[in-house]
Amino acid sequence: MTAVYQLIPGVQSYEWGILGSEKNNAVANYAEATPALNFQRDDATPYAELWMGTHPTLPSYVIAKEPHEALSSVISAQPSLLGESVVKKYGAHNERCALPFLFKVLGIAKALSIQAHPNKQLAEKLHTEKPNLYKDDNHKPEMAIAIQHFTGFCGFRPVHEIANFLATVPELASVVHVDGALRELLQDAASRQASAWRGTDTAGAKDTVHDALQRVFALLMRADAQVYEHAVAELAQRYTDALQHNASIEVSRATAELVVRLNKQYPRDVGVLCTFFLNVVHLEPGEALYLGADEPHAYIDGTILECMAASDNVVRAGLTPKVRDVDVLVDMLTYQSARAAEQLLRPVKWDGEQGNATTELYDPPIDEFSVLLTTLGRSDVHSDQRAIQGPSIVLIVHGSGSLHAQNKDTDVKAGAVFFVGADTPIRFATKNDMKVARAFLEIV
Ligand SMILES: [Zn+2]
Repeated sequence: MTAVYQLIPGVQSYEWGILGSEKNNAVANYAEATPALNFQRDDATPYAELWMGTHPTLPSYVIAKEPHEALSSVISAQPSLLGESVVKKYGAHNERCALPFLFKVLGIAKALSIQAHPNKQLAEKLHTEKPNLYKDDNHKPEMAIAIQHFTGFCGFRPVHEIANFLATVPELASVVHVDGALRELLQDAASRQASAWRGTDTAGAKDTVHDALQRVFALLMRADAQVYEHAVAELAQRYTDALQHNASIEVSRATAELVVRLNKQYPRDVGVLCTFFLNVVHLEPGEALYLGADEPHAYIDGTILECMAASDNVVRAGLTPKVRDVDVLVDMLTYQSARAAEQLLRPVKWDGEQGNATTELYDPPIDEFSVLLTTLGRSDVHSDQRAIQGPSIVLIVHGSGSLHAQNKDTDVKAGAVFFVGADTPIRFATKNDMKVARAFLEIV
């Protein structure tokens, strides 16, 4: 029985994507690698996402058969491709899609909305109460692995940073009025957080930080549009002038530049002020972020692999013309606060490989997916990967070589996408240089 299928992925063009004229455009370059996709690259079109999976909005097709058959129907005809334990937990073919995860490549030229995704329990409640806004009852954990440089917002900044901005940026203070009691609460939260990080006095720090951040963030989110629109415009103008004239300002040059840039992309949007609340995280290739339930985040620019659970539930905070469900948002967030570097998900060496390549495992604390990133160096290198007891999707990220499975060798190059059924050992080999990403689900 065939268990490995080359796929035709789908391309999404959104206005925040990277223009086709950009040589380094991973989404367009990968799309061109699959002739059966009939992709016509256009210099003036922004390419945002490459979808690999069974999501009904843009399902992948299997190349082997003409007319091309949807991967989901191949799987539903042969549920053993998902593996016994996965079928037992998720069903052979639930109504949303056959695979419980979706794998994507994102090319981001303009920031996406600042958002958070509800946890499973909240998603069920929201879907029941507001089915028009929340179209399914699933949670949507996400993981981003950079394949080129990437910038994003992730989680709340340390409290002392936020308190400092509130005290020193007048336009922000005109929107978020911090009275005496709140100022004291912020100071208390900042000092408790500092002692917790030193390892002394951890009691109560988390609750105090939660309380303080929820109050100031709610003031920002509930601010009157007239008030914040005016403040954002004034602030962006002041920073633009200061940057031009090299004048001194109360924030770093990088922070001022980000405020100016976000205001250009989303003029007068309340999300511009989120710069003062959220960590700005920079990833280099191979570095990753895990975006758990109820954590605020936004992709600002760069190119990433993204893996997510099958859901469309988004609660937006800013940088968007769409609905902001402020009450739900302010209530749901975890208000965990940490240093930017602590937001990173560190990969570990995968123990399922034999050979002379290096495979790292990105394993977020949820069931639906993990990702392997295999680097095959410049000499004669191979990676024998054990059978995984669940489905996986393979993307050749870089270079070329071969994929060996079920006694068959296939030449592969950057952009090629494959589905690998459960319980199928595979081997990658190259004589020059190759990088392979493999998103998978295995219940252990
Ligand atoms: Zn998200």
